Amino acid sequence: MTSSLSDVQSSFPEPTTGEDLWHSASGLTAAFDPGRFHEGALDIVDRLTAYLGDRSVRGLDLIDPEVLLKAARGLMTPERQRVADFDADRVKQIVDLYTETGIPVHSPGYMGRQFSGVVPLAGLIDLVGSVVNQPSSFYEAGQLPNVAERLMAEELNRFIGWDRDRFAMVTTSGGSLANLTALLAARNHAFPQIWTRGAGGAPGLPAIAISEEAHYSVTRAAGVLGIGEGQIIRLPVDQAGRIRPDLAGSVLDEAKRRGLRPFCLVASAGTTSLGAFDPLEDLAALARRHGLWLHVDGAHGASLLLSEQHRDKLRGIELADSLTWDAHKMLFMPAPCTLLFYRDRTAARGAFQQRASYVFDEEPDIYSAYDSADKNFECTKRPMIMPLWTVWSVYGPALFEQKIDRLCEVTRQAHRMIAAEPDFAVAHEPESNILCFRYLPDGMEPAAAHRLQLEIRNRIRGGGRFFISKVDIQGTAALRVVVMNHLIDADHLAMLIAEIRDIGQRVLRASATARHDQRNGSQS
Ligand SMILES: *Cc1c(COP(=O)(O)O)cnc(C)c1O
Repeated sequence: MTSSLSDVQSSFPEPTTGEDLWHSASGLTAAFDPGRFHEGALDIVDRLTAYLGDRSVRGLDLIDPEVLLKAARGLMTPERQRVADFDADRVKQIVDLYTETGIPVHSPGYMGRQFSGVVPLAGLIDLVGSVVNQPSSFYEAGQLPNVAERLMAEELNRFIGWDRDRFAMVTTSGGSLANLTALLAARNHAFPQIWTRGAGGAPGLPAIAISEEAHYSVTRAAGVLGIGEGQIIRLPVDQAGRIRPDLAGSVLDEAKRRGLRPFCLVASAGTTSLGAFDPLEDLAALARRHGLWLHVDGAHGASLLLSEQHRDKLRGIELADSLTWDAHKMLFMPAPCTLLFYRDRTAARGAFQQRASYVFDEEPDIYSAYDSADKNFECTKRPMIMPLWTVWSVYGPALFEQKIDRLCEVTRQAHRMIAAEPDFAVAHEPESNILCFRYLPDGMEPAAAHRLQLEIRNRIRGGGRFFISKVDIQGTAALRVVVMNHLIDADHLAMLIAEIRDIGQRVLRASATARHDQRNGSQS
């Protein structure tokens, strides 16, 4: 046995063979040199500080991928034989290309997607995580991350309200994987035989009930689990995009008459397209009557629980069995960072019923009690809780509440402003920070209106000042803004409205001219 680390180090032989080996060893050593790291870090932090400081209103500069490919290839060292010398300029160019080609998530022009400009401190902690590299499925590999998961679970469960001695939380790489994991737990709970005997082991056809408006990851999860399209029961929604509990019961009864065995009802707390919140209390009662697991997909909207003003949208959440909560959306963390909550921790362990001697200890001890590998699909997993826990620890929950309140308020303001424009039509009352609307001058046919919205969306993106998205609502495209930036104000909204109108009118004029020319052409 060696008595100290220096004994171990001095027992390695010095490299003595030829010039080449020494050269490659020195290149190798240099690549891991802490001094080099420090120099590089200062330069990168300077560049990111300038990036964060740029408050200009700008959208996405979408580049031809072939052009970008060529530019990126030009930054790759041609050296193949030895470890190339460090080239600060090459690193600088890579960082610049990286920041310049992204959606500018910190600009007020960004209103298009559900991921956000991150709390800058979160980015710094992500850097720490990348350097110390502590994958977090096992306590042994990521001690602080696993403890932080426990603390963050307790903090957030105060807003959910489950029994603190019974609930469980696990982090997953994204909301899609969380939805899949929850559905797996629900299925194993209802049909424990399937894990060992396969799909043939189930009595009847396992089925799930979901909203017409459910995120695609839910139907994808059903595909992965072998449930099959035919066993997805679609529950009708109202104008606002919420499941109608008054109709859902008879749809479930009918499915059962067809021989389906529904085991899970998936509700959305914030749908992706409209940001609509399903009525959880009513759906929980329905799930109880039909013996269903209630999973709430709160990837987007669970964060509203942190807001005194908005938490009412999730009334009844304490009655759910599981909840998906993306921190990379409305908790403003680097992606991915998702928390999957279960009301009952034995159900959480039921998702994965495996044994693997190389990782799972036969006899649980004080350390393995903090492992999460029995509850998540990943083996090696990013310690994604660390940015969230650190920001929460440093600033407290009010940071999140204030930002969420502000985003919802700006969205209501956008709704008021757009509703007041005679040539615009809002598609709904916003429930959170998502608003859909159309540029719709009088007398447009639905097909023409559909094409117009798509054209406007693409031209706005091409213009490079705003980045917004589009979504189909009852078959017709609509423009969609997702307010993720608390710096967006009435002036920005007025600018956006003016730009949409300007583009919309130009598109309409151009197509009127084209029709006119066509008519004249066909007469001659
Ligand atoms: C974004 C979203 C998802 C998918 O989550 P990812 O983290 O992107 O995998 C699932 N459901 C809803 C309602 C969402 O808004």
